[in-house]
Amino acid sequence: MTERVQVLVAGAGLGGLSAALFLAQAGVDVLAVERHAGTSIHPRAAGQNWRTMELFHWAGIDREVLAASPRASQGLRITVATSLAGRVLHRLVQDGSEFDVSASTTLPAGMAGQDVVEPILLAHAEKAGARVRFRTELTDLVPDDDGVTATLRHRDSGEETVVRADYVVAADGGRSGIRQRLGIGTTGPDALSHCLGVVFDADLGDRVQAGLSDLFYLRHPDFTAGFVNTDVPDRYVFAPDYHPERGERPEDFTHDRLVAMIRAATDLPELAPRIVWTGSWEVAARLADRFRAGRVFLVGDAAKVTPPTGGMGGNTAVGDAADIAWKLAAVLRGEAGDGLLDTYEAERKPIARMVVDTSLHNMKQRMHPDLDVSGLTRAEDQLAILLGFRYRSTAVLSEEPDDGERVEDVHAPTGRPGFRAPGLASTVDLLGHSWVLLCAGDDTRWRPAAAELGIPLDCHVIDDDVFAPRYGLSAGGASLVRPDGIVAWRSPEPIADPAGELRRVLTAVLSR
Ligand SMILES: Cc1cc2nc3c(=O)[nH]c(=O)nc-3n(C[C@H](O)[C@H](O)[C@H](O)COP(=O)(O)OP(=O)(O)OC[C@H]3O[C@@H](n4cnc5c(N)ncnc54)[C@H](O)[C@@H]3O)c2cc1C
Repeated sequence: MTERVQVLVAGAGLGGLSAALFLAQAGVDVLAVERHAGTSIHPRAAGQNWRTMELFHWAGIDREVLAASPRASQGLRITVATSLAGRVLHRLVQDGSEFDVSASTTLPAGMAGQDVVEPILLAHAEKAGARVRFRTELTDLVPDDDGVTATLRHRDSGEETVVRADYVVAADGGRSGIRQRLGIGTTGPDALSHCLGVVFDADLGDRVQAGLSDLFYLRHPDFTAGFVNTDVPDRYVFAPDYHPERGERPEDFTHDRLVAMIRAATDLPELAPRIVWTGSWEVAARLADRFRAGRVFLVGDAAKVTPPTGGMGGNTAVGDAADIAWKLAAVLRGEAGDGLLDTYEAERKPIARMVVDTSLHNMKQRMHPDLDVSGLTRAEDQLAILLGFRYRSTAVLSEEPDDGERVEDVHAPTGRPGFRAPGLASTVDLLGHSWVLLCAGDDTRWRPAAAELGIPLDCHVIDDDVFAPRYGLSAGGASLVRPDGIVAWRSPEPIADPAGELRRVLTAVLSR
């Protein structure tokens, strides 16, 4: 028998679980399948930037994520050094207090690892009605004009089932089988460097500042490595590079050799670390040529893999999921046309390019001075990427003239269409669920216009001192904000025919 579902999500990592959560909360019938037995056991993507926390806030999980990682409130330190007690080459971040984003958001960033965030996403996705099946692998996928037929196989019983979905979200990771099956190529280097991941327990005393998130890039005379503490007390991740071009293989790094390296990295020659997990991965910088193929959308690492220098891979997986989720929900509810789904690639691919290129520039600065970064787009300010990013697509009515920039200054957000609606104390809780019209001081003409439209549009008057200048409005003006908190259009001044104008705008941005 064929099972019916509106959206099938393949892969329940950070991207897939976020997609399942956001879709289910938007009322979509969603099934997520994951070939592993459970959520990630490795802390991998530690850190939720402010945009991710904004999305989590709207999903009602930000407090749980913060509580799972007390380190967040203490700050972040990033150091390039020869070893933990060795020569400091650069202090990239002192304690995190240098990140003043108060003009853009009132929410704190998080520092939780993927191993603690994924169970939170899972619990809330299921609570919202998503079905999530572990040890279940997608083995075949046949898209047609009306939907997608997928074959699933249970990895214990071998039982096969067929699912018919309106759409598929491919969140099946960097080696995405779905991307390959659809013949979507990738651009960018596959194996920039090779890393081992070693999770170990030990008492490192004052070598690392417990309490804050203490990340080191180590340029030791014998190796280069990443080193970071985790949410579990006395647990660390040590990630040295290895070199296949010199004939090295992960299995050459025996327990004793890893212990010797950890001792050298920590400058604790007597240390007896208890190694709890080892693995290996390739650092790559790959961008899928297309993010959409008919009814299938690539999300997270399936769409792009970025070096971890910058901590943006997992965060952009959540951002991808948020973007595609509200668009699929709008199309499935009959509020939007198929053209809205094309804006997923138009909006997320340029972000992916910027993330990958900036992470490569970071990689050169922090770890690999010889890395060739010619031919890349320029490095952008990381805060601007996270909070000042810009969408250009038909789901946004951009204002002319366009200054051509990819980002804006987070200390002076402008409220222009295509950018995040600044998250002020007066606005943050109004956004993130539906279309919202924020009116500066007066809504007498806007409110009746909004009520006539036939799609849910919440209308609010804001009359504090910060709102109008931060959103670029005069008294009587209004800003139209999408369900993902991006400004779609604004009218800085009052206008004569608000109902006609709102109808025109929504018809355009929703591809109706
Ligand atoms: C060491 C390391 C450190 C990192 N640090 C950071 C960081 O600090 N900040 C950050 O933002 N990012 C970081 N990242 C990146 C981050 O981990 C990834 O970008 C993130 O996991 C991507 O999420 P995803 O859901 O797209 O893919 P994944 O988390 O890889 O999930 C894909 C899932 O799909 C499943 N799957 C694959 N094929 C199938 C199939 N056919 N059927 C069913 N299931 C399938 C897989 O089992 C997997 O669970 C780091 C990565 C690494 C390796």
